Amino acid sequence: MVYTGTRTPSTHTVSAAEAIKEGLSPDGGLYMPMELPILTLAEIEVLLTKSYAARAAYILGKYLTDYSTEELREDCSGAYAEARFPGGAAPVRRLDDETYMLELWHGPTAAFKDMALQIMPRLLSRALVKTGEKRTALILVATSGDTGKAALEGYRDIPGTKIQVFYPVDGVSEVQKLQMMTQEGKNVSVAAIRGNFDDAQSGVKRIFADEDTKSALNEHGVFLSSANSINWGRLAPQIVYYVSAYCDMVRNGAIQLGELMDVCVPTGNFGNIFAAYLAKRMGLPIDRLICASNTNNVLTEFLTTGVYDRNRTFHTTMSPSMDILISSNLERLLYLLFGHERTASCMRSLAETGRYELTPAELAAVQRTFVGYCTDEDGTRKTLCETWEDRHYLADPHTAVALGAARQYQRDHGAKRKLLVASTASPYKFAYDVYRSLFDETPSDGLAALTMLTEKTGVAIPAPLGHIAERTVRFTGVIDADEMPAEVLRFASDVD
Ligand SMILES: *Cc1c(COP(=O)(O)O)cnc(C)c1O
Repeated sequence: MVYTGTRTPSTHTVSAAEAIKEGLSPDGGLYMPMELPILTLAEIEVLLTKSYAARAAYILGKYLTDYSTEELREDCSGAYAEARFPGGAAPVRRLDDETYMLELWHGPTAAFKDMALQIMPRLLSRALVKTGEKRTALILVATSGDTGKAALEGYRDIPGTKIQVFYPVDGVSEVQKLQMMTQEGKNVSVAAIRGNFDDAQSGVKRIFADEDTKSALNEHGVFLSSANSINWGRLAPQIVYYVSAYCDMVRNGAIQLGELMDVCVPTGNFGNIFAAYLAKRMGLPIDRLICASNTNNVLTEFLTTGVYDRNRTFHTTMSPSMDILISSNLERLLYLLFGHERTASCMRSLAETGRYELTPAELAAVQRTFVGYCTDEDGTRKTLCETWEDRHYLADPHTAVALGAARQYQRDHGAKRKLLVASTASPYKFAYDVYRSLFDETPSDGLAALTMLTEKTGVAIPAPLGHIAERTVRFTGVIDADEMPAEVLRFASDVD
């Protein structure tokens, strides 16, 4: 299986290992496999009795053909081990007769980013060996909360890599801050930046573009790499849990093998829902994909009108991981449906004017599978309450956005098929907002909210978030954004 960029004809192709090591393709686009592998019902039937790790190794094997079966088995068993995902990696829970929850937050940081970030570092570590790379990969991450911690947990103590995370000192929740300050591992570094997320993000981008810093790093035998969601190594592992959920639903009798289901995904960067689309294109029986957005509803408008327009007010919401105006992975859908030339022209238009527009025929092609709904802040609170009161299911705000969209879809289309809703974070990761929404009372702070929420609901706090206040704090540094290059060089030259 070879990979090509989304914006140029496929004259330049790379292996999966190269795509994972490079991240972005040289045409400025994203890497995509040249053809999509097939998954038959007979293959799904074989997967029914397998563990999550075995299902993952099987599906990834179709895409990462330059990795041996043994390598993939070893990496998947390590990444999705019981110790890291107690009770199973991606369990499906029944909410009501029509609606099932795919819980993607049982990993080490209690958010769905773990599903990809537990395995991707292992794939990158092997990619370095496969491509003859002798230098250490330094993963630089600017984070608004979830990704930083998940990346730290994924890369800690992975051979051939170091990871350094920058977060805005006042831009993440207390729980998130403590999660990062107490990070363990020999190859990790964390620093807070005076400023907001954009300051941290721009600082990281400047370092990636700075030839002086890069050549200084090179002298220490270090090169820069990123862990963000446009890397193929993050996308491919996300296909697995849709296949796995389908297997589990067949096994527990929710659906018959071959029966179509719909899937609803709370969407920001369009990575998670695009993975579901790839599963469908491979042959998994999925009919419609419901793209759920919060008040930042740029995708709802796109899927309804064909106009993608990022020139709009940015809203800060209770579901911060979906506060996104440029959904990078949408480029991969354009490429699959309309080819590289059209993708390049849309992306040029997006860069120059902040918008692009599909033709009516193109929009119809998108709408054959995708439908967009949004849930605003009031709707999110209302859905959190109803889901708790009617079903005794404690959702997080991102998942509530999806459930709000799912209910609108079921109202508009009737519940013809079983609907699988992606549940992307533990409610305890956002305990403060969840508590306020359910009980009309404001906790004194984020840590107090954890205890109050578990006392009021009786739902257990996931182990990775429990006792967080008692862990050893390792990283207390707060720096200015212009000190970031020096901090990176200092960490790169550290010998442990
Ligand atoms: C990242 C994230 C999302 C959005 O996923 P995309 O792949 O960016 O669409 C939704 N919910 C949570 C909790 C997340 O962390």
